[in-house]
Amino acid sequence: MPVLDALESLAELAPIGADDVRGGWSRHLLDDADRQMRAWFVRAASSLGLDVEEDANANQWATWAPAGAEGPAVATGSHLDSVPGGGPLDGPLGVVSALAAVSRLIAEGHAPAHPIRIANFAEEEGARFGVPCLGSQLLAGDIDTDRVRGLTDASGATYVDAMTAAGLDPAAIGRDASRLEDMALYLELHVEQGRQLAPLEAPVGIATSILAHGRWRVTVTGRGDHAGATELDSRRDPMLVAAATVEAARGRALAAAPPTRSRATVGKLQVVPGGSNAIASEVRLWIDARAEHDADVRVLVARIVSDAEAAARAEGCELTVAEESFSTRVEFDPELADRIGAALAPTFGEVPRIPTGAGHDAGILAAHLPTAMLFVRNPDGVSHSPHEGASDADIRAGVDALTDALRALTGDR
Ligand SMILES: [Zn+2]
Repeated sequence: MPVLDALESLAELAPIGADDVRGGWSRHLLDDADRQMRAWFVRAASSLGLDVEEDANANQWATWAPAGAEGPAVATGSHLDSVPGGGPLDGPLGVVSALAAVSRLIAEGHAPAHPIRIANFAEEEGARFGVPCLGSQLLAGDIDTDRVRGLTDASGATYVDAMTAAGLDPAAIGRDASRLEDMALYLELHVEQGRQLAPLEAPVGIATSILAHGRWRVTVTGRGDHAGATELDSRRDPMLVAAATVEAARGRALAAAPPTRSRATVGKLQVVPGGSNAIASEVRLWIDARAEHDADVRVLVARIVSDAEAAARAEGCELTVAEESFSTRVEFDPELADRIGAALAPTFGEVPRIPTGAGHDAGILAAHLPTAMLFVRNPDGVSHSPHEGASDADIRAGVDALTDALRALTGDR
């Protein structure tokens, strides 16, 4: 059986979804690029002799269950979708590393006491339908299925349209109790987001927690008009309110930091009609807010919205706010982290334990089963950008670490 090389796999994936406009890669739920990624997953897992399935929530699974491997599976994996114009490693690194690790365990003759299952979670970034970790939230029963069926993408297509077009049944989505119960634990490897490992000179780290975080859609309605013919004092320009909201996001987060590790970002803006010589009639923008604890996020968003409402009143605009998602603070399982730390110690010594500000499927699953994450050093800390990276040596170290962890967690018969 051939050993799958993570770097070669990343090279195979590199042409898929390359974004000529934004730079980087755009791979969004069940679009052409995502379907090619999913087809690659099936081919790669099948070439290792794994059983591949797709669940009702569009997640893909590949299982290695040799004779004698019993009970719930040790699950690993990540996601193959991306943010718009994202980097090459978030989250394909976790999927290719899992395939590489399992191929090595097969090649070395490891006899696992439990099956190993590799996940490719659907719509982790929420780039198409606005809700991050959609596949894992559906699996876990953490999100209302009627709400999901009603979600629309930027082109107006609904989630139901997307699932139907891909040959999946949108009526079947939702909590998958038997699949959840068939997982003993979930360990996700991911490229580090932020820069904590480089100063520690450590190629890998173990996650401790995820900041509480959420997304809010703000709609500001004014009056569209001519940019030349309309007097300044008679305008109702929603762009001014949007600008004030962007400023408020930074200002309020700065005022709250550092003890709450608060951060707020406006990274997406839609302007209607979007003409350079027209005052906008409506602006939609999205606030991404994160902080140490749930209440810190609520307070931060309330302050930003209060500033935005004041700006709307001053400009004579209407403002509405809708919460698109909220993820509570996550604590990863300390006992599982200890077991992984012990498995890595012979090769890596004492592995640093680090928190993260980024959401993950592992964070969703943490409420339902023991979960852990391994981070691979990102020298610049940049992610959700084409400039995201990790050295070849560190990518190999990540596969070594995941292999050691899976070997220890599945035991020898
Ligand atoms: Zn990711």
